[in-house]
Amino acid sequence: MTKQPHILLIYTGGTIGMIKNANTGALKAFDFTSLLDKIPELRLLACTIETISFEEPIDSSNMNPKYWADIATIISDNYSKFDGFVVLHGSDTMSYTASALSFMLENLAKPVILTGSQLPIGDLRTDAKENLITSIQMASLQIKGVPVIREVGLYFEYKLYRGNRTTKLNADHFEAFESYNYPHLAESGVHLKVNSEYLWKPKPNTELIIRTAMDADIGVLKLFPGISRPICEAILTSKLIKGLIIETYGSGNATTESWFIELLRNAIKNGLHIINVTQCVGGSVNMGQYETSSQLKSIGVISGKDMTTEAAIAKLMYLLGEKIDSKEFQHYFETSLRGELS
Ligand code: ASP
Repeated sequence: MTKQPHILLIYTGGTIGMIKNANTGALKAFDFTSLLDKIPELRLLACTIETISFEEPIDSSNMNPKYWADIATIISDNYSKFDGFVVLHGSDTMSYTASALSFMLENLAKPVILTGSQLPIGDLRTDAKENLITSIQMASLQIKGVPVIREVGLYFEYKLYRGNRTTKLNADHFEAFESYNYPHLAESGVHLKVNSEYLWKPKPNTELIIRTAMDADIGVLKLFPGISRPICEAILTSKLIKGLIIETYGSGNATTESWFIELLRNAIKNGLHIINVTQCVGGSVNMGQYETSSQLKSIGVISGKDMTTEAAIAKLMYLLGEKIDSKEFQHYFETSLRGELS
């Protein structure tokens, strides 16, 4: 008999792990050591499960690079012992964590699947059970003892996505996530259907390396018509910021007003890395397609291509944390490292 996949369930917090007190109606985190008693269906899965929980489970609005490093470290410490990892996480910042983990876990060759839910696990109409059970099944998929998913995925409401391609786009619907610029990796219907051609293929014969030195001295500036010069100036001349993501219009366009371009030009000259990411939920930055983006390209703005803002933030923190040389920074940013851009 072949050995059943061994899965580590990491509970960080969020609605999924909450249970309603029947008398008061208040939500509280439930004890994950008794998971198999609470969800007996898990015993039917063809895998063995161990659980580990954050000492103090958090709402994902309180997520930060230190917690990302904690999750990456748990995975790395348990990497040889387990065949797959399922991270239970609040949905609000799940796309950021999925993006960050994808960069932190270099040469990952086992599944790391983030999931959560819109309703607590004890709720009658909960989406938590399906999300949890199918995530564990996805993490257990193997062909000849080799895991099928070998990257950081995000599973929510019948779809498995590449984690660093996702965005949370609905606060109310069960279908809360989307990946506009990359097809989903798998779908759960009557059968689990894996879209093998879209899966990440890790480099063979490499070892997992964890890189947890994220540098959070960055900013995000969302452009809007009428954005004021003094406010842009305050941000672009700040000595505190090492990297700035500008959320531009359409295919990477911005105002051509000379004060704006000059501010960017000077900031880049002074060593600031400026990344162009579109405000659109789908599609790509293509600097030079319009006159309103040609100058950005010529002054050295880096293209975020079709990256989500979440992935761009994580990548910026990661490359700054790794102290990538200024000369190589643009090259690394514009190159796909973990399938985060096309
Ligand atoms: N606020 C919660 C969180 O992100 C929502 C959820 O769990 O989905 O932790």
